[in-house]
Amino acid sequence: MAARIIDGKKIAGLTRADIAARAARLEAETGVKPGLAVIIVGDDPASQVYVRNKKRACEEAGMYSVVIEMPADTTQAELMEQIEQLKKDEKIHGILVQLPLPKHLDEDAVIAAIPPEKDVDAFHPANTGKIMIGDYDFLPCTPAGVMKLLEYEGIEIAGKECVVVGRSNIVGKPQAMLLLHANGTVTVCHSKTKDLAEVTRRADILVVAIGRANFITGDMIKPGAVVIDVGMNRLEDKKLCGDVDFASCSQVAGAITPVPGGVGPMTITMLLENTLTAAKKAASKKL
Ligand code: NAP
Repeated sequence: MAARIIDGKKIAGLTRADIAARAARLEAETGVKPGLAVIIVGDDPASQVYVRNKKRACEEAGMYSVVIEMPADTTQAELMEQIEQLKKDEKIHGILVQLPLPKHLDEDAVIAAIPPEKDVDAFHPANTGKIMIGDYDFLPCTPAGVMKLLEYEGIEIAGKECVVVGRSNIVGKPQAMLLLHANGTVTVCHSKTKDLAEVTRRADILVVAIGRANFITGDMIKPGAVVIDVGMNRLEDKKLCGDVDFASCSQVAGAITPVPGGVGPMTITMLLENTLTAAKKAASKKL
């Protein structure tokens, strides 16, 4: 039987409407309008699309948003100075530097320069440490979006075999941590994992974030499993596809996210949630 399709676009739409309502309430009650600043360095076309989408999503949610475009030859000192200014700006509650940065810039130093309370990507070491201990203000947007999808779909995590394929700092590792906090039994796989299919076939919940088009095939999953595809790969014909081979996996899985229209729309949604959280914290300090 074909799997149930998890409609990330619909769930993102409903969640964004709820965030917009809460943002409007915050502004009415405290005068604080949540504000996000996105810095983009250089002219990478994919990054420009992501940044435009973030700005549009902010505006649709009734939030203030600014995009700061800096040239590709921006120096580390110039970028740091820009972050310094945004740190002091009371209208800005969230600061995001679009990654990747041009090679001559030190990404880790840039992330560390963003004050943790405005770090709406949740990449600052202080925030990643908090995620580890389960006491956090912000969650990284993509893993948080996956958790929201699972919650919305009523998928129980406690006691389930959860397998995360990919161990990046922005997706795989925090994803594993969130599933663990939700009482899943979690296994993390990576490029050195031996017999990957043997591990993925154990998963009741499989989250794949590796960046390889159509890599996970139907024979690698357990019948009835929940399959969450984080991957976003551009094929030669410019079409977007996931890390999961949808055609074969959707015949075996119980529920599956499509690409596009699955995890992608949830990532920006959770950025809005984090910006609202940051604004609420700033508002409570003012009272
Ligand atoms: P990344 O930093 O490149 O990490 C990829 C991970 O996959 C690494 O841990 C790597 O293992 C592992 N891997 C690579 N090949 C593998 C293989 N053959 N078998 C098992 N593991 C393998 O990637 P990322 O930033 O996490 O992104 C992953 C994918 O998610 C990309 O397609 C990206 O575009 C997408 N993404 C989507 C969203 C969204 O909003 N939907 C957000 C972020 C990322 P090693 O550590 O051993 O090298």
